[in-house]
Amino acid sequence: MTRKVIDVDDVLANFYLAMCRKFNKPYISTDIWEVKWIGEVFDQVMNDEEFWENLPVLSPPESITFDFDFYLTAMPPQMQKARARWLQKNGYPDKPLIVSNEKTKFCLKNDIQVIIDDKPTTVKEAAQEGIIAFQFVPYYYPENRMYQGVKIIRHLDEVTQILKENEK
Ligand SMILES: [Mg+2]
Repeated sequence: MTRKVIDVDDVLANFYLAMCRKFNKPYISTDIWEVKWIGEVFDQVMNDEEFWENLPVLSPPESITFDFDFYLTAMPPQMQKARARWLQKNGYPDKPLIVSNEKTKFCLKNDIQVIIDDKPTTVKEAAQEGIIAFQFVPYYYPENRMYQGVKIIRHLDEVTQILKENEK
């Protein structure tokens, strides 16, 4: 059984939509890693438990059709409890929630073979270290920005399908 980690923001939770709503910005298709205003206002949500606890769902729990070992998220550490409540109240599997900015390192240290994340630099780095990296691409992320060195997916169930294919 391969050990897997799954990211939360912009994979399970629609962080981008929550930010657009809170700061009254248009919910347009965009490279969320390049949006200037998000970086400028991020300070204002860093300690806002209500914000983290009420993010809209992007991928519902039913879409996770595989077993996994950890939620691996790079959020503000002080919001970890709010995130745990979000996962619980939206019906996600009960798994350990790890907050880390060094996701590849975490995977290597903890014998993780598969990472599912939306951040291009994260999946790229993980792939370079030999981890099976899936770039989850939210529908608000333009297709031409996908990083091509990794497996691109738009529904979490594709992880199950692709891993099955690999085993054949
Ligand atoms: Mg993310």
